[in-house]
Amino acid sequence: MQRSFSLIVFTYVAFFLFSQNTFAREYLVKTPDEYKQVSSSLKAGDDVVLANGTWTNFEILFKAKGTKEAPVTLRAETAGQVILSGLSNLRLAGEYLVVSGLVFKDGYTPTGAVISFQQNDDNLANYSRVTQVVIDNFSNPEKFEQDKWVVMYGKHNRFDHNNLVGKRNAGVTMAVRLQNEKSQQNYHRIDHNYFGPRPVLGSNGGETLRIGTSHYSLTDSFTTIENNYFDRCNGEVEIISNKSGKNRILNNVFFESRGTLTLRHGNGNLVEGNVFFGNGVDHTGGIRVINRDQIIRNNYMEGLTGYRFGSGFTIMNGVPNSKINRYHQVDNALIENNTLVNVEHIHFAAGSDAERSAPPINSQFKNNLIFNNKNTDGISIFDDISGVSFAGNTLSSGIKPSIDNGFDVSSFGMQRAENGLLYPKNGIAKGASASLKPIRKEQVGASYYPKAEPDVAFDSGKNISVQPGENALFEAVNNATSGDVLVLDNGEYNIGKVIKLNKTITIQAKNRKHVTLYPKRSTFVDIGDLGSLKLVNLIINGKKTPDSAGNTLLRTSRLPMQRNYRLEIQGSVIENLDVNHSFHLFDAGHRSFADYINISNTTIKNVTGDIMRLNKETDDLGIYNAEYIYFNENLLENVEGAIAKVYRGGTDESTFGPHFIMQGNVLKNVGQGSRNKSAASVRLHGAQVTHVSKNKFFDSAGIDIEHTVGEPVTTVADNEFANTIAPKVVELRAKGPHTAKMLNNIVK
Ligand code: CA
Repeated sequence: MQRSFSLIVFTYVAFFLFSQNTFAREYLVKTPDEYKQVSSSLKAGDDVVLANGTWTNFEILFKAKGTKEAPVTLRAETAGQVILSGLSNLRLAGEYLVVSGLVFKDGYTPTGAVISFQQNDDNLANYSRVTQVVIDNFSNPEKFEQDKWVVMYGKHNRFDHNNLVGKRNAGVTMAVRLQNEKSQQNYHRIDHNYFGPRPVLGSNGGETLRIGTSHYSLTDSFTTIENNYFDRCNGEVEIISNKSGKNRILNNVFFESRGTLTLRHGNGNLVEGNVFFGNGVDHTGGIRVINRDQIIRNNYMEGLTGYRFGSGFTIMNGVPNSKINRYHQVDNALIENNTLVNVEHIHFAAGSDAERSAPPINSQFKNNLIFNNKNTDGISIFDDISGVSFAGNTLSSGIKPSIDNGFDVSSFGMQRAENGLLYPKNGIAKGASASLKPIRKEQVGASYYPKAEPDVAFDSGKNISVQPGENALFEAVNNATSGDVLVLDNGEYNIGKVIKLNKTITIQAKNRKHVTLYPKRSTFVDIGDLGSLKLVNLIINGKKTPDSAGNTLLRTSRLPMQRNYRLEIQGSVIENLDVNHSFHLFDAGHRSFADYINISNTTIKNVTGDIMRLNKETDDLGIYNAEYIYFNENLLENVEGAIAKVYRGGTDESTFGPHFIMQGNVLKNVGQGSRNKSAASVRLHGAQVTHVSKNKFFDSAGIDIEHTVGEPVTTVADNEFANTIAPKVVELRAKGPHTAKMLNNIVK
């Protein structure tokens, strides 16, 4: 013992805690080597303290045996001031371990997990706790290189009061694994965590929390998920993917999160006291029920817009004798005392088709409250629902019940109670309980760590005045801070260098039509990670660009991007992109992803290439280049290429996009160039939502829409096509006629 003391050259703080047969010690370590020395001989009650500062490329193995009375702890000297950066991670193995106060940021894990409750398959952690830990944007720069941030193995572990924010690469944020007996019936507790904003991934693999996998889904997990706050967890269609039995999902709040809590596999789960605030945000959903013996009780849902499998409430059809990874029939579900306020869609027997032909049985739907100020209950029925008994449900006045029995229509207003939820003014005792106490954002997560907004908003910084001058704009962008607005004085601006953009910037004319930009390189702005661009009221003239084919006014980085970006062009004139052939306005790179692109009130003329090229993910993996594409109120003249080429291939159904919205444009001679191989003015492959309306096409190529998977929603309405071929829609996967709504289009 004395000998090992003398080997330890660093300081350890010498206050000794007595326990029965060992001295508990506190070690302050300052380097990974020091950590390694102490960590090999930790005893119950020991406390390892990482010195404040940044630890780079530190892979921590925390392996020890504590006791219930005397756990072994690993903590930050000061919570929040120990930063794990670079290629770092943490593995726990042993018993009664506690980790606290660490922050993972500015890096990513070199392995499949940032925090893993096991060293390897043979050495797991049990009775251990991770608390007050932060993982902030610790994402692999290769966006489609999968990893998970937290993986729980073993039994009786707790993960609480942590922040998991900004996962940008593929792979579920947090998973509970049940792959052998050592991790089944685990009684883990996951509570009071802040699951912060997770941006749209643009592919499958963006779930926030998964409990189990289909393979072991008939095994019970006994995991409790309670009092967590899910803030804009938008990765993909599943926010929580429950894939095991006997879990309890209690009192969590889902704030403006796109997707649903899905009881995907496993039986006998309890979903109680959860609150969903959609606030009308696109694709916000609630609860999706599959399998046996599920109880969904006393939940509150408000302002949810989601439809189909992403609805506010869904009961699925099953597959008879289902394989373990398909859909087991809903049997013996109890759905009671839930409140649904302005929930746009409630689907029963959803997904009914030749394969999913087993409707719900032995189930009850009772004492639920549905309030909707659009005078509809939002209910759609896709198969026989005689296996669900309906009783004691209440609908607000004006609603004609979609289901004959078990729904009473009652006249009542709603008022917001102190807990933030709406209740009937008349005191009717239906729906969620008045004693519900939704957890607040400030009550969850690491107490020392701010809950920052995920993106810098356009125009959130200062206004900076810019005068014409050689490279004045280039310098101004370089000197600006993210969020700033560059206000350009009247005059002409030559831009002799490509602007590589890694911040959020608005470039705006002080006076509309009095500022002209002349890019002199093949590209004006190249948007890289952290870059977002807004152009307002400018004239951009391409005539001084090099006389070579394939110029691109705006583009994303040629390197794969980890961050989503935003692009807006408003009230501008873009002209003479025609010094040579194939001069494109915007070209998205492979593995780039726009949260949105919005071009509006802009005149675009004399272009030899395409306007928006969003067609780089041709490997058919369900990956695509933009979530929302808006193209409204523009005037186009003499554009040889297409307005948009959008490609989303593959058969996966885990995404909501791409969305394409095109309204009120006037097009003259668009899409007719001999190099426009699509021979269309708009070409969409695999878009999930398309609205094309009130456009006037003259002497132009047509619209070409290919539906693939996911029951896409397409409307083409109130357009005029003069000397322009009529729009074409084809179904590439579904049998039968196409499902697009084609209304009031005039073709002449
Ligand atoms: Ca998925």
